Amino acid sequence: MSVDYADEIARAGKLLRQARYAVALTGAGISTPSGIPDFRSPGSGLWERVNPMIVASLYTFRVRPKVFYDWVRPLAKKLVEAKPNPAHIALAELEASGRLQAVITQNIDGLHQKAGSREVLELHGHVREATCIRCYQVAPTGNFFDDFVASSDIPRCSKCGGVMKPNVVLFGEQLPVGVFNAARACVRRADLLLVAGSHLEVMPASQLPLLVHENGGCIIVVNLSPTYIDEVAEVVIHADVADILPYIVRACVEELDNGQA
Ligand SMILES: [Zn+2]
Repeated sequence: MSVDYADEIARAGKLLRQARYAVALTGAGISTPSGIPDFRSPGSGLWERVNPMIVASLYTFRVRPKVFYDWVRPLAKKLVEAKPNPAHIALAELEASGRLQAVITQNIDGLHQKAGSREVLELHGHVREATCIRCYQVAPTGNFFDDFVASSDIPRCSKCGGVMKPNVVLFGEQLPVGVFNAARACVRRADLLLVAGSHLEVMPASQLPLLVHENGGCIIVVNLSPTYIDEVAEVVIHADVADILPYIVRACVEELDNGQA
């Protein structure tokens, strides 16, 4: 498959090599090869009986937390079991080689960190911690995540017995302001943005590539389907990120090793 994109891969590698401050923006498409369904997309298997935009909303969580937890249990099981795939690993290698400054992600699965990425800005939160919706005590999810997957109980606060909400952004909820501001600052510095596995349909993350483009930076898109930013991107590859990113990183790093920077 990658042979089809040999020219694009070489060009993307060269652009990364030349970039002063490269940043990656990742979405659900980088985690689907790890078995995590894109729960925003119909056809992911999570829309069979309910609409996730309703069941995974802040409103439903507050009034009927069991409905949310019953829906999210199969997804949580997949989160516990998921392992980074070659795309996550490629981005971690790129950072380690000094050619990528940060990963901004719309995913909540923590797979970038599991792959070894250090600078990760999680726009939609993560499942490493949960917060009590009554007293706001924050607790690491740790074992309770495994217990929750195995049982039908709702996770409760050890202090007040209130319902614990994973620190993920639900529908109808604001993004964590600090993280989003950090992502925006990061993107403002960037002279290259690598969009990997995001359809760029979920606001406001979807607007970040525009900031780079407006500042004269270049955009590389690797995504299965077209995005709105494709027409101004320097390189566009419509394929699976797990197939393509390792080749791009190799193209970038190997040329460095050959002294052709
Ligand atoms: Zn509490």
